Amino acid sequence: MRLDSSHRKRRRPLTIQQSDIAIIGAGVVGCAIAQELSLRYGNKKKIMVIEKFPGIGLETSSLNSGVLHSGIHQDPNFLKSRLAFEGSQKAAEYMKSKGLPILNCGMLIAISMKALRSGLYREWQNLYHLIRRGKEQGIKFQFLTAFGVKKLEPNIQAVGGIFIPNVWVIDPKMFFTALAKDAQEKGVNFFCNEEVIAIERGQSDYRIKTEKYKDFEVIGTNEYRSAIVINSAGLYADEVAALAGFSNYKIYPWRGEYYEAVNLPKNLVSRLIYPAVPYNYPGKGIHFSPRVDGSLFLGPNARPVPKKCYYIEEQTPVGQFLEAAQQFCPMIKKENLKWAYSGIRPKLTDQPEETDFIIRLDAANPPFINLIGIESPGLSASMAIARYVSDVISTYT
Ligand SMILES: Cc1cc2nc3c(=O)[nH]c(=O)nc-3n(C[C@H](O)[C@H](O)[C@H](O)COP(=O)(O)OP(=O)(O)OC[C@H]3O[C@@H](n4cnc5c(N)ncnc54)[C@H](O)[C@@H]3O)c2cc1C
Repeated sequence: MRLDSSHRKRRRPLTIQQSDIAIIGAGVVGCAIAQELSLRYGNKKKIMVIEKFPGIGLETSSLNSGVLHSGIHQDPNFLKSRLAFEGSQKAAEYMKSKGLPILNCGMLIAISMKALRSGLYREWQNLYHLIRRGKEQGIKFQFLTAFGVKKLEPNIQAVGGIFIPNVWVIDPKMFFTALAKDAQEKGVNFFCNEEVIAIERGQSDYRIKTEKYKDFEVIGTNEYRSAIVINSAGLYADEVAALAGFSNYKIYPWRGEYYEAVNLPKNLVSRLIYPAVPYNYPGKGIHFSPRVDGSLFLGPNARPVPKKCYYIEEQTPVGQFLEAAQQFCPMIKKENLKWAYSGIRPKLTDQPEETDFIIRLDAANPPFINLIGIESPGLSASMAIARYVSDVISTYT
């Protein structure tokens, strides 16, 4: 959906808006930061959010599994795991406090019966690695035998596994909409349909130029000035950083696709069921992903793609997803899986290796904060990222 630069024409700025804090990108992270800052500063600071799409959260923030992760899949020494742990508790409490739906389903990480044939060694190693990470982070979980798995999920067959009760599923759209609404009620301005195309650094503030769209056509340019800038532009955060002179970042797009499970008995699977994937695997493995509306999805896989907006081209055939489903639930057949959608991870590497979130104050005077590589579990971590970024800012306000 990104507009091509050939559509751009030079126009005089329509307006110049002044603010204390400008957030670029209204995904879940931008919305959470806006909400947190609005709680801290109320009307004392002028805060704005600039978003290129006509609405909020239309990119990666609405194209995920909606899981509030525990952090068990992440390196315990990473900021990522700490923020996921803190953020998912905060997000779960927030959803409950707003009366928004939340699935209190927990996560089962299981070893399939198929693994018995290969001697269990590799799968047990994978699970053991996750167990160690979980223990190091103080994440509560319990061991399950094959019988324990059956008791929990009657339609799932597994040799055993671990069950983490404090993992939830939310509707990401309801979450970021509520965060943005809170922020707006406290005076934050959201400017949608505006793509940041240039950033100039001044003595005491930044000059942010945008192109204004209507029906995806450029209708003019705008200019904003802000004493503090936060770049939370997701997949394009490297490009936005480069506009401000920070050219040292590169984001690699990795796609994750989903198939919807259809025409199956209701509540066939009601918990998150994950395989135990090896260390440095580029995702968390194709899992059973129940949603708050009662639907069930299988996904996501993890594959590098040539472009940041490569959502529907070259869809992965059903085989990979069917195999992932049948290893735990043999009653799922090919005709029960329907290609549904994909999301694109903003990764910091083109290799299957683990990297941390980058949240960095790249300029102190005037302050400019870059958030780069906020891939999964960025939804879970969003409210903690907001706390973290706001703490950094508090030393400058
Ligand atoms: C397949 C998949 C599954 C996932 N599952 C989970 C999960 O279950 N749980 C979890 O915690 N996380 C999950 N994630 C990760 C999570 O979705 C992301 O970490 C999170 O959505 C990142 O939010 P964001 O606000 O940083 O980015 P985005 O949602 O991408 O928001 C960035 C915003 O910036 C805007 N923007 C970009 N450039 C400009 C510009 N020049 N000017 C103005 N605006 C601009 C974009 O339009 C966009 O709206 C998953 C991700 C994928 C891809």
